[in-house]
Amino acid sequence: MGFRATLEKLNIKLNGVREVMKKRNAKIIAAVSAIAILLASTVAVVSASTSGVVYIDGKAVCKVDSKSEFNRALAILEKLHVENNVSDRTDKKITCTFTLSSVKKVSADDCAELLYKECLSDYVRAYCISLKGIEIGFCATYSEAEQVVEHFREHIINSVLDKDDTAEFVELTTDFVISSKICRFDRVTEPEKLCRTMLNVDDHDETLDGGDASNRVTAGGAHEFLYADKNFAFGMLKNEAEVELPKYDFSFNLGELNSSIEYKTIVNETYSEIIPFETITVETDTLQIGQTKIDVEGESGIAENVYQIAYVDGVEVSRTLVSSKVITEPTACVKLVGTNKLPTATPTGSFMWPVQEWFVITSEFGVNRNGLDEEGKYHQALDIATDRGTPIYAADGGVVTFAAEYDTYGLLIKITHESGVETRYAHLDRIDVKVGDKVYKGQQIGTMGITGRVTGPHLHFEIRINGKPVNPRTYLPTKMPWK
Ligand SMILES: [Zn+2]
Repeated sequence: MGFRATLEKLNIKLNGVREVMKKRNAKIIAAVSAIAILLASTVAVVSASTSGVVYIDGKAVCKVDSKSEFNRALAILEKLHVENNVSDRTDKKITCTFTLSSVKKVSADDCAELLYKECLSDYVRAYCISLKGIEIGFCATYSEAEQVVEHFREHIINSVLDKDDTAEFVELTTDFVISSKICRFDRVTEPEKLCRTMLNVDDHDETLDGGDASNRVTAGGAHEFLYADKNFAFGMLKNEAEVELPKYDFSFNLGELNSSIEYKTIVNETYSEIIPFETITVETDTLQIGQTKIDVEGESGIAENVYQIAYVDGVEVSRTLVSSKVITEPTACVKLVGTNKLPTATPTGSFMWPVQEWFVITSEFGVNRNGLDEEGKYHQALDIATDRGTPIYAADGGVVTFAAEYDTYGLLIKITHESGVETRYAHLDRIDVKVGDKVYKGQQIGTMGITGRVTGPHLHFEIRINGKPVNPRTYLPTKMPWK
């Protein structure tokens, strides 16, 4: 409805303008030029405000191109600190504000150099006391630092000794290091004050720089916050607000210091310990080679031993014997070792009586009293009689060629001594050897018995040469063994 009417009105107005414009053509061109100049200068003002003016404690140092350049300068500044072994970072406020300023615009590198020079007025070279990399404090001279360390070391040792009655002495295993470093001038402390802080004697709130407690962070923490947290710096810069960096603080973590101290506690301890007995070897010919016998049983003794034992965190790390007192002497064990050589099976060429105990000869070689022997022939042996079970010995060394029951012989052993010579032992009660055994002269081979065709216990003993029985009496000693 009113749309068409409005258009018509606008058209009339535009026509009017056109007419005016024709008349004022020249003037308008001049005005447009002026606006263009004005616009251009406005652009120049805007670009000037995006440059960051870098201040240190309110003093404009230089100008940088952008926020990222400022952050780069801070990173380079940190690098300079590290390269120059500067322990601390400046406490001066480094800020960047986007405003107009006549200071010179520089690169990030030059900006960092300028900031570092400004920071240097804060720094001095001093002696840093550290433990496992934790900076504890700075002293003006080396000897002052030594005094502090000595005092603190003594304190640790004494406090351990106080707590532990058994401890003889305490030895620090991680120790303090004193090194020359650049630090902030106000961090250099009087030795007495540093000692008090280390020993936590003063009120905990009192720190080395006496800084604002609400702003307190540990040294490492402050540093990270100051330079590494770029996001934090960016966030502030986005609002073009003044970047206020957190105040640096020197207080170290007392708990961290205490937990970094490692020491050994040396304790004297007494133990009752066993003294092992020694074994004495005594040679004897009552035993054969290879045979042993315990003559006297050994008995352990008891000693009271004092040890110097080092502990780290309750764990024993070393032990040294200091003294030893014998309470009970040990008794040595006496071990007998046989030296007697075993007789060899080699025949000696002579015979011994196969029975060594008292006996009677019940039947001689040849025809016996009854005309015939047990086998119905003339008697080819000597019958040696005594108790059943009496040991029977080999008459000479040789090899067993037969050991079993054999017909009227009963239990029989045959021993070959050398080519053609043989002995036989019959009517045995028991056989102690087997075929192939090498026996020595005098070795027991069995016991007297009543096996085979017999009327009472006796040994039927034969000597055969080339298979022919011979009279044993001819070969045996005339002297009876028991005489
Ligand atoms: Zn006989």
